[in-house]
Amino acid sequence: MDKFKSLGISAAIIKSLSDMGFEEPTPIQEQAIPILMEGKDLLGQAQTGTGKTAAFGIPLIENIKDNPQANQGIVLTPTRELAIQVSEELNKIAQFTNVHALPIYGGQDIQRQIKALKKRPQIIVATPGRLMDHMERRTIRLLETKIVVLDEADEMLNMGFIEDIEKILGSVPTERQMLLFSATMPKSIQVLSQRFLHDPSFISIKGKEVTIPLVDQDYYELHDRQKFDVLCRLLDIQSPELAIVFGRTKRRVDELAEALKKRGYSAEGIHGDLTQAKRDAVLRQFREGIIDILVATDVAARGLDVSGVTHVYNYDIPQDPESYVHRIGRTGRAGRTGLAITFVIPREIEHLRFIEQITKRKINRKPVPTVTDAIVGQQRLAVEKLLQEVQEGNYESYKGRAEELLTEIDSVTLLSAALKMLTKEPDTTPVKITEEAPLRIRNYGGSKRPSPAKKTFSKNKPRSGAGKFY
Ligand code: ADP
Ligand code: MG
Repeated sequence: MDKFKSLGISAAIIKSLSDMGFEEPTPIQEQAIPILMEGKDLLGQAQTGTGKTAAFGIPLIENIKDNPQANQGIVLTPTRELAIQVSEELNKIAQFTNVHALPIYGGQDIQRQIKALKKRPQIIVATPGRLMDHMERRTIRLLETKIVVLDEADEMLNMGFIEDIEKILGSVPTERQMLLFSATMPKSIQVLSQRFLHDPSFISIKGKEVTIPLVDQDYYELHDRQKFDVLCRLLDIQSPELAIVFGRTKRRVDELAEALKKRGYSAEGIHGDLTQAKRDAVLRQFREGIIDILVATDVAARGLDVSGVTHVYNYDIPQDPESYVHRIGRTGRAGRTGLAITFVIPREIEHLRFIEQITKRKINRKPVPTVTDAIVGQQRLAVEKLLQEVQEGNYESYKGRAEELLTEIDSVTLLSAALKMLTKEPDTTPVKITEEAPLRIRNYGGSKRPSPAKKTFSKNKPRSGAGKFY
């Protein structure tokens, strides 16, 4: 905790950080906290999983904790899930202070929010649309606002929140402190920061510093029609505790979730077309381990903080390196190891090379597993289950039956049959997965991308440049 202490953080917050299991600040925390405690504006670039929430949350809470007035801190986030998650993290950091954060988002009963707002939370974490709603109803006033944070600003712009953001920023006092965090720095973000930030410090954590060291990265080269069987084999071999499977389109997600269920896996899909209630229900089941495989589009999974995800499967290679980092950032978080697997069809191999080049990480090629590999994996699992049972030792009542059986059948035969019963043999139930066109290589601002070996992508229908947002 010494490094945190040396950043000038008060005892109450040091205590909660240690409660939360934080040992030392992440690079962005180390750089941002001193700047923010001084009250300066900040433009921060960092990928998912680098600890941005605490980077702005700690100074935010420090700066308002001795003066408990309503709505002093406003945090804007692109999605409801992120609003909830950020607000939870802020409340953990603030647990030994009198500061309270409240999430405000679309889809939740507005009367309930109005009631919660009457308790005058010091920090509001909101999606822009719903915050505007409250401003129009005059159930939130921003006159006391001292600090505004735009979290995942690039996502908010991509989702079309620019006008709401401008209106919100226009209603807070001009002498506020403002922070803008974004994983990418497109022109639109630069323009936004020039307009709204005053003499900001700029921090960029990228390239080599992207904190994904604990994720092992593999890829399999195969054809689209092979993908599903190979996915099932990998699931059988690796038996992930909690896995996320990323598909490129909503249709993919629906078909994959259905197909996995047909073959006996406990899976559910989420994407932007589902009702909020349905998405919440699926996420809750996933967090609680009731389902172990979450199938998702990039948008639906953005910003999710589900701890304990052991495997990420990129059923379809992501559109760009940022999405790749976002996706694999879902696993191996906060000190745990994870495995990220990417399926690449031959025409997309250049795309994989580009991701390797930008993320400065090698992605290891693995041979496509066979049916036999899958069976061996499942047998190993059955043996593990059996040995676990032996350790737990609650089988007294079975011993009589066992002895009886052993007088008739030899032990090897009997145990083999039992193992066969315990082993999940490969399921070949037919499933329907519509073939997807290969990824169309996008022009990445003309800079570092190696020229594609084959010009095979022009035939596919252009996706109007918005590949990430299905
Ligand atoms: P980002 O917003 O950059 O994607 P988060 O703020 O959501 O990242 O943090 C990612 C995860 O890392 C969270 O589970 C968070 O609790 C954890 N975390 C953040 N800072 C630290 C730290 N200093 N030590 C250990 N875990 C941390
Ligand atoms: Mg974040």
